[in-house]
Amino acid sequence: MEKLLIEKSRAGRKGYSLPALDVPAVDMAKCLGGENLRHTEPQLPEMSENEIARHYYKLSHLNYSLEDGLYPLGSCTMKYNPKVNEVAAGHPGFQHLHPNIAPEHAQGALRLMYELGESLKEILGLQGVSLQPAAGAHGEFAGVSTMRAYHWHNKDFKRKYILLPDSAHGTNPASATIAGFTVLGVKSREDGRVDLKDLESKCNDEVAGFMLTNPNTIGLFEDQIVEIGKLIHGCGGLMYMDGANLNALMGLARPGDMGFDCIHINLHKTFSTPHGGGGPGAGPICVSEKLVPFLPVPQVIKNGDNYELKTDIPTSIGRVHSFFGNFGVLVRAFVYIRMLGGKGLREASENAILNANYVFSQIKENFEVPFDEPCLHEFVLSGEKRKHESGVSTGDFAKRLLDYGYHAPTIYFPLIVHEAMLVEPTETETKESLDNFATIMNKIAQEARENPDLVRNAPHNAPTKRLNDALAVRNLNISWVK
Ligand SMILES: *Cc1c(COP(=O)(O)O)cnc(C)c1O
Repeated sequence: MEKLLIEKSRAGRKGYSLPALDVPAVDMAKCLGGENLRHTEPQLPEMSENEIARHYYKLSHLNYSLEDGLYPLGSCTMKYNPKVNEVAAGHPGFQHLHPNIAPEHAQGALRLMYELGESLKEILGLQGVSLQPAAGAHGEFAGVSTMRAYHWHNKDFKRKYILLPDSAHGTNPASATIAGFTVLGVKSREDGRVDLKDLESKCNDEVAGFMLTNPNTIGLFEDQIVEIGKLIHGCGGLMYMDGANLNALMGLARPGDMGFDCIHINLHKTFSTPHGGGGPGAGPICVSEKLVPFLPVPQVIKNGDNYELKTDIPTSIGRVHSFFGNFGVLVRAFVYIRMLGGKGLREASENAILNANYVFSQIKENFEVPFDEPCLHEFVLSGEKRKHESGVSTGDFAKRLLDYGYHAPTIYFPLIVHEAMLVEPTETETKESLDNFATIMNKIAQEARENPDLVRNAPHNAPTKRLNDALAVRNLNISWVK
């Protein structure tokens, strides 16, 4: 393990030099009041510039990134982020734009936002857009709040429930709850799709809407989507789609045509802007005609040849982000969409589906397959039988993958599959890369049968051994001060 900075510190060593003071010194005690001054020196590491550069360089090598290899993190769409996106986002005209600049001096940036919004509406088959939300969960919150504003505008105050399938991403119930609704779960059938009977029994005039991920978090297309839409609309509710991952639909099918009224999309997943490590991301929402008046402000509008910011929309739910959302992310997504074009976006989806099915076909014999049918952009495996037979859990399996230089897939999600592993290779991997990954997955499955302890004690060559997750949650300590 790399030593901590404080352990490398030597008293008096410095990584900087300051010029002599050429203004009158200030008496800090007078300025701040003596009681506000600290009386002990802060305990900061003292190091040379060289040492600090080496320290962070070494730490950066402990990271796993897309530049290191395949990232099979299902539901996260960890695809390659083309470098040209970065070049565009780093353009001084974009990067140095002050958020308070007058719209007439930021016409290029506003046009980019307007045209990105138009592209997203086209891709999704919907009529309104807001680029403001800063993440998927934030988009859900903004979207569900927009739905609430619609019901309230119609004086329909009794709609207090949001229905959700039990395979939903955890952010869905959280967003609906924060937006003031009560969540009601809807069961999944044996084949992973929504149980229509259960849904029907819960449809009434207290339902504000239904939130659904399609393809669902098992990687399967919800083929009863038209019937679901009829049921929900039939009782006056709205249809919300979690479109965090659009990687199986983009260019192939449009949520608007399926009957959805509102959807968020994660630009930091499908539209190739970097994510992981906390962002920044962007979770724009698109809505059907009836929800347009309630979208967040500001709205970028086109007036003749000019682009303007409209904030005076009395029915709007208001602002959900300071200024204009995460603008740099919007630039990257815009470039990605323009570089690929309609045909390229469709090919990206087709290849994402092909790659997932290819890996699935190469490894499924060694795993339990809860839903044995062709998948879309991701697929789910279960390790329940393996755990029962050899004591090797899905968590152990994932740790062993680290030994082979891979990031682990999503594990223990979706919750409806025991010992789940959700694998999403994405379209940006070559056949050789997919083959290597499949070989390692099969190899670990064999190790689990023949030498379970090897897998149970993994990782063996990662920078740290197993951490005590439970202790870390209960007793979080992120400070180097003992
Ligand atoms: C990633 C994801 C989200 C949440 O997106 P964030 O940007 O992490 O807030 C929601 N739903 C699904 C299905 C996702 O995969």
